[in-house]
Amino acid sequence: MSGTVVVKAEGVEKSYGSTRVLKGIDLEVRQGEVLCVIGPSGSGKSTFLRCINHLEKIDGGRLSVNGSLVGYRQVGDRLHELKEREICKERAEIGMVFQRFHLFPHMTALQNVIEGPVHVKGVPAATAAEQGRALLERVGLGDRADAYPRELSGGQQQRVAIARALAMEPALMLFDEPTSALDPELVGEVLDVMKDLARSGMTMLVVTHEIGFAREVGDVLVFMDGGRVVESGPPREVIADPQEERTRAFLSKVL
Ligand code: ADP
Ligand code: MG
Repeated sequence: MSGTVVVKAEGVEKSYGSTRVLKGIDLEVRQGEVLCVIGPSGSGKSTFLRCINHLEKIDGGRLSVNGSLVGYRQVGDRLHELKEREICKERAEIGMVFQRFHLFPHMTALQNVIEGPVHVKGVPAATAAEQGRALLERVGLGDRADAYPRELSGGQQQRVAIARALAMEPALMLFDEPTSALDPELVGEVLDVMKDLARSGMTMLVVTHEIGFAREVGDVLVFMDGGRVVESGPPREVIADPQEERTRAFLSKVL
């Protein structure tokens, strides 16, 4: 595993009003690594991903992606908050896939995929379309480029959403329970695409309830509860022999 750290969280804290949601998260994701996060509902998993992607501001600790502090620029020993335009630029380097696919309903699969490259990055439409078709091919939807979201199954829509994120050539992909909204028979096709992506060397942070995926594909498994990392380690070890009672209790419910 290469040594470059892509995500570094040190004591990351986040509150909503008086509710402390993240109570000091420490973790690292190295380049090419797949880090899976499991934990009960409300433990702060989505909030943590949203902090990485500049959708929420942290209240304490330090959070950096590819060596730069999320939302800030360091000049000497002073921190300057980034302007919205700069934040958008940083966010474009991070791909995010949510539980719900959020595809534009009035655009075809291909149009959804090339929207970002064309309008955010200024890639010429013809080039973007060529790359977009290749990406749809990669997620097994080469023949559905002209289909509208309503004509696609949930699994197919989620694969389009993955292709759309990849179209921005992200350095990091965040997944927030990408298969939780799918009918059970459609889960496998999405996990297979994610597995391929992991094999290709993509750095991935995956919040999931798919313990089998975490065991097979994950390099590190993190168990979160109550806004804290309770336990982390090689997935097989954490799953087979959890050290903490809370991890054990959670796993016994989902396995
Ligand atoms: P998880 O993804 O692990 O289920 P979340 O990060 O979604 O957990 O939520 C953690 C806690 O933060 C929950 O108690 C939730 O109600 C609260 N929370 C999340 N987003 C907000 C928000 N925008 N405003 C207030 N509370 C929030
Ligand atoms: Mg969540």
